[in-house]
Amino acid sequence: MRKLKNIGLIAHDACKKDMVEWVTANAGQLARHSLTCTGTTGRLVQEVFDQKFPDMKVKVHRLKSGPLGGDQQMGALIASEQLDILVFLTDPMTMQPHDVDVKALIRLSTIANIVVAYTRSTADFIISSDLFDDEYEAVCRNHEEYIQRIIE
Ligand code: PGA
Repeated sequence: MRKLKNIGLIAHDACKKDMVEWVTANAGQLARHSLTCTGTTGRLVQEVFDQKFPDMKVKVHRLKSGPLGGDQQMGALIASEQLDILVFLTDPMTMQPHDVDVKALIRLSTIANIVVAYTRSTADFIISSDLFDDEYEAVCRNHEEYIQRIIE
């Protein structure tokens, strides 16, 4: 993992206020990295940067809205090793229409052994880690061995 991180941000509707507060509180640090969000989350995150740093022109990459395929697009980034950190603020009290996509995203994050936060507290711990702005060598389980065993 390089110093400059590729960071994914997703917030379910009930958590969008939390995400806006978290991004606002950490905007200076986040602006040094590359940010990709699902559609609606991305619009709100972009507004934070446009208001806080109008001259910096921070560009937030926006995928489709989560329920319309944005979670799957984020999953594709993880599977193709283009995401280092995912902050995914999930709402545990509301049934999501795209629940299968949410589960897939969680599973892919685990397989790829990326850094994941499902809660704001975890996100706080991650962003205050010395490793956030440093290089990091992840110790990965080799899932290829599992696939090979099935084929044999
Ligand atoms: P959204 O998607 O950012 O487009 O609202 C979030 C989600 O996956 O529910």
